[in-house]
Amino acid sequence: DQGLGSWPRRRARIGAADLAVVHGEERLTYGDLERRVRRLANALASTGVGRGDRVAYLGPNHPAFVETLFATAALGAVFVPLNTRLAAAELAYMVRDAGVHTLVSDQRLATAIEATLTLAPVGHHVVVAHADGDVPAAPVAATDYASFVAGGASTPVDEPVELDDLAMVMYTSGTTGEPKGVMITHGNLAWNTFNVLIDVDVSTEEVTLVSAPLFHTAALNQTFLPTFVKGGTSVLVGAFDPAETLELIARHRVTWMFGVPAMFQALTAAPGWAEADLSSVRAVEAGGAPVPEELIRTYQARGLTFMQGYGMTEASPGVLFLRAKDSLRKVGSAGAPCFFVDVDVVDTDGRSAAPGVAGEVVVQGPNVMRGYWNKPDATAAVLDEQGWFRSGDAAVRDDEGHLAIVDRMKDMFISGGENVYPAEVENALYEHPAIAEVAVVGVPDERWGEVGRAYVVLRDGASFDLDEAERFLDGRLARYKRPRSVEVVPSLPRNASGKLLKKALRTSDG
Ligand code: AMP
Ligand code: MG
Repeated sequence: DQGLGSWPRRRARIGAADLAVVHGEERLTYGDLERRVRRLANALASTGVGRGDRVAYLGPNHPAFVETLFATAALGAVFVPLNTRLAAAELAYMVRDAGVHTLVSDQRLATAIEATLTLAPVGHHVVVAHADGDVPAAPVAATDYASFVAGGASTPVDEPVELDDLAMVMYTSGTTGEPKGVMITHGNLAWNTFNVLIDVDVSTEEVTLVSAPLFHTAALNQTFLPTFVKGGTSVLVGAFDPAETLELIARHRVTWMFGVPAMFQALTAAPGWAEADLSSVRAVEAGGAPVPEELIRTYQARGLTFMQGYGMTEASPGVLFLRAKDSLRKVGSAGAPCFFVDVDVVDTDGRSAAPGVAGEVVVQGPNVMRGYWNKPDATAAVLDEQGWFRSGDAAVRDDEGHLAIVDRMKDMFISGGENVYPAEVENALYEHPAIAEVAVVGVPDERWGEVGRAYVVLRDGASFDLDEAERFLDGRLARYKRPRSVEVVPSLPRNASGKLLKKALRTSDG
C-alpha cells in the first residue's frame, strides 16, 4: 500500500514533530496532520464514503484541502478538486459528471456553492467555516468541518490501495467545449513526485511557498506532494497577492516557489520588489504557460535561479524540465524530458521528426493518466495502445534533446495561467439571441499573457457589446474565460470549404 493515503503515516513515522504545513497563524506538524487525516477519513467513512466514491473540494488553498485529499485517498475514494474561479453552471456540470458523493467547501465561496448545489445536489456537504461561521442549511444541509473532523474515530484506516487505483479526477476543458475529468492514479502521483525530486533536488529543509491554487495539477503535484514526501514545509496561501508574497518569502525564509509566468511578472511590479529580502530563495520555478525570456533574465539578474516546467494535467503534470544548470544557457527552451518520462516530437504520420523540424509533442510514461472519466472516445482520441499521449502542442527538438514549444495545434489560449478553450466561450455566446456567428481568439496581453477577443456577426437589427457579453456570461462562464473585447464584424473569414480561419482573426489587428 504505497497509495497517497499512506503518505501522512509514512512521513509522521520518520518525523512527527517536523512542520508540514503553515497557513496564516496555523501550523501543523506531520504528526498533527496524520492524526487529523485519520479522523477525517473515519468521519467520511461514517457518512458512507467508500472505495471509488468521489469526494470534491471547492476552496482556496487551506490545510483542509490537503487533509481531504489524503483522507479520501486513504479510503480508496477519488478526490475531485474544483476550480474556485469557475461559474456555478460550470461547477454544476463537474459535480454531476463526477457524481460527487460528498463536497467539502470553503464558506467564503458560499454564494457560488449555493448556486452550484441548487443545480447539482450532492449527498453530503461539509463546510470549512471562518470567523463568523454559520454553516448553510440549504440547499444541502452542511456539517461544520472542524466538528466533522473532531467527531471522526481515531482508529487507523486500513483500506488497501494499489498504485493502479484511481486517486483523483481533475477537470480540464477541451477543444470540444466540454470539460473532461482527467483520471489520475496513485501511481501517476508517485512517479511524478519522483521526477520532481530528481529534477528540482527537493530537500528535507525545503520551505515551499504554495500560492498557486492547489486545485490545479502544478501546485498540488509539482510542489506540495514532493515537499511532503521529503518532510519539508509548505506555506499554503489562499489568494496570491504580490506584495504579501514578498513578505511571506522573507518571514518564512522560503526556499522554493512555483508560479505561472503572470505571477512572477506581477512580483517584479509589486511595491517592495527592489528591497525585498529574497536571500533564502534557492530557486523559483515557472510553468503552465510560455515564459518570456525577459522575465527569466530579470530573476537571474536578481541572483535567483529560474527553472521551468512544461506539462499538462494528463501527465500529472511533468513532461519537460529546464534544470537550474541550463536555465540561462538554454533560455527559450522548455527543457529536456523529466527522468521517467519519454517524449517524442512526431509528424502527422506519427514518425519522429528530425531535430529542427516542428511536430506534435507526444508523451509516454508512468505519469500519464488512465484516461478521461466516462469519455472513452475522447480518451481514444489522445491515448494510443502503447500509451503515447498526444499533447496538441507543437515543438522543435534541438541537437541536445531540448524542446522549444513553438505553437499549439489545439484551439486554446492561456490567460494568467488558466487555459481557455474558445469552443467553450463560443458555445456560451451562441446562446445569446443577438448572435448569429461568433469566433473567439486569444490576443496578446501585457499582464495576462493572452486575453480573449470575440468576433461576432449579429442577427438582423440586433445589437451586442462588451457590457452585454459580461452581463450574459456572468454565472455561466468563469471571469478569466470571458472576452475582454468584442468586435462586431459583417462576416467571419472562412476558406473555400467553409472552415473558420482563426489564424486570420488572430493576426488581423482589431
Ligand atoms: P494544463 O492541463 O492546464 O496544465 O495545461 C496544459 C497545457 O498548457 C499544455 O498542453 C500547453 O499547451 C500549456 N503549457 C504548459 N506548460 C507550458 C510551458 N512551459 N510553455 C508553453 N506552454 C505550456
Ligand atoms: Mg495550465
